[in-house]
Amino acid sequence: MRIHPNGRVEFQDSAIMLDHAGQNAEPILLSHAHADHAVRRGRIISSPETKRLLEVRYGVKTAESLDYGKRMSLGKMKVTLYPSGHILGSSQVLVETDQPSLLYSGDIKLRPGYSCRPIHIPQAENLIVEATFGTHLFQWPKRERIEKQIFDFIEQSLIGGRTPVFMAYSLGKSQELLALLARENIPVWVSKTVWQMSKVYEEFGVDLGKYRLYADERDVPGVLIVPPQKARYVNADNPRFATVSGWAMTRRWNDGSSQIPLSDHADFGELLRYVDKVRPKKVWTTHGYARELASVLRHRGYDACPLTARQFAI
Ligand SMILES: [Zn+2]
Repeated sequence: MRIHPNGRVEFQDSAIMLDHAGQNAEPILLSHAHADHAVRRGRIISSPETKRLLEVRYGVKTAESLDYGKRMSLGKMKVTLYPSGHILGSSQVLVETDQPSLLYSGDIKLRPGYSCRPIHIPQAENLIVEATFGTHLFQWPKRERIEKQIFDFIEQSLIGGRTPVFMAYSLGKSQELLALLARENIPVWVSKTVWQMSKVYEEFGVDLGKYRLYADERDVPGVLIVPPQKARYVNADNPRFATVSGWAMTRRWNDGSSQIPLSDHADFGELLRYVDKVRPKKVWTTHGYARELASVLRHRGYDACPLTARQFAI
């Protein structure tokens, strides 16, 4: 098997692409529908949830769906998708041949979320793992502490006569917030893209509670959720903003917003635990802190390196 940094995986005369479009109409295994992974042309194969999100979000109507745990033959390779715990439909991709196997993590989260299926971790001899938060700087606080931060932010805003506005990515993070707020019956308004993505979650049976479409009202008697790039257009009276992101552990935005470190990625400790569970002989790291994570993994006895400019044969 041969692995290229552009996501191409070859075995004898067969080839597939992982989260990238290829040159020669190779099948593309798509891990999830976030913009930094999604592909919009070619023969795309994804979970049914990701297929639907691609339709609604990017107008891609030609993806093929593959259920979790079902094996599909692509030339001399067999591929299986496993839930990755990141967002609705997110998948790890296991590639098997008559040689040692390869697992591609896509984006992963180990702690259970509020709105998507928990991760199921298969074992594999070779692993490509995301390293978005792959340094010791990123260790998420306990779930209860983050929840308290969220509810305190809402309460203090409302007591002060202000409108609590969460700035959260429209696919994934917003639905985590919706599912959490639904438990407390807090009235929520959401912007259009959050609304569209949430409707897909509901098509697949995820309960996000009651929420309303925000139509630029000034009077919002509850909570507002908007993607960060829409925050400047919020028309609500006296808004008070909170950024909801794993990057809140290390960054301070100078926009005056509060920071809440709710992430849909694994933190550093979870990434190490993930690799231990896969039990690979060889690891490549990709995205974010790839170099740093590879270095730590080497100290822990793994044969690990970043998936950079050259190709690797296994
Ligand atoms: Zn993602």
